[in-house]
Amino acid sequence: MSFLLANYHTHTMRCQHASGEDADYVEAALKAGYQVLGFSDHSPWPFSSGYVSPIRMSADRLDDYIASVHDLQKMYDGRIRIHLGLEAEYFPRYHDWLERMRDRGISYFILGQHYADSEEDTPYTGNECVTADGVRRYTESTVRAIRTGLFAYLAHPDLFMRHRTDEQFDAVCGEASDMICQACLEMHLPIEYNLLGLRYQLEGRSRGYPSTPFWERAKKYGNTVILGVDAHAPAHLDGPDIRALALERLHTLGYPVIDRLPMDQDY
Ligand SMILES: [Zn+2]
Ligand SMILES: [Zn+2]
Repeated sequence: MSFLLANYHTHTMRCQHASGEDADYVEAALKAGYQVLGFSDHSPWPFSSGYVSPIRMSADRLDDYIASVHDLQKMYDGRIRIHLGLEAEYFPRYHDWLERMRDRGISYFILGQHYADSEEDTPYTGNECVTADGVRRYTESTVRAIRTGLFAYLAHPDLFMRHRTDEQFDAVCGEASDMICQACLEMHLPIEYNLLGLRYQLEGRSRGYPSTPFWERAKKYGNTVILGVDAHAPAHLDGPDIRALALERLHTLGYPVIDRLPMDQDY
C-alpha cells in the first residue's frame, strides 16, 4: 500500500471562526496533492438551556453542511475522496445526539474535548486547564469520551497545554498525558499531532500544543499517531514543510504514524 495523503480535520465557515467556501478547501487540498479530505466541522449540540454557541455551527446549519459535502463528493468524484464527519466533544447528557448524527450520514467523529462537559456550563478547556483541577477535569472527561468507542481519533490530546508553556508541564500534566495515552491504547484510538498548532508556533503566535513535553513523555506508550491539519482556512492545507517537520519530529521520537483511517484502507 503506498502512502496516502489524507486529512480528516477540516472546518467550514459555519463554525463562525473559519473562513472560505467549502469548495475552496477541496481546491486547496487538490492543489496540495491530497487524495482524501474529510470535513469535520465543529458539531452543533441541542443545548437544552437554549444556549447559543459562538464557536460552532448551529443545529439549523446542519442540513446545509451535509448537503454541501454530498454535493462536493459528487462534483469531485474520481479526483479526491471526500468524507463527511464532525469534530465533537463528548457530553454524556447529549450522547444520543451523536448517535442521531450517525443516522444522518455522518461517517466519522473526531474527538476534540474543548469543554469538559456541556459548553453551556463549563469553561473552554484551554482556559480551565491553567489550574490543576482543570487539567484533571479535562483528563477525566477525555478518558470517558475515548471509552465510548464513538470516535475515530483524538484531536490535539495535548489541548490542556493550550495556555501553558513547556515549563508549566507539571506532575498533573504528566498524569494527564499518561491517562489519556493509556486509554487511547486500550481503545486502539490514534492520537493527533495538530498541524494548526504547529503552524501557529512557527509563526510565533503562542499556542501550547503540540506540547513538546507531552510528546516526549508519551513516546514510552508508542501510541499510533495521525497528522491533522485542523484547517480553519483553505490556506492551512498548504505547506508540505509543516507536515514534513511534524513527521520528522514524530519519527525521531519513535511514534508509529498512520496516513489514513480504516475507512480508507481500500484506497
Ligand atoms: Zn475550531
Ligand atoms: Zn478542529
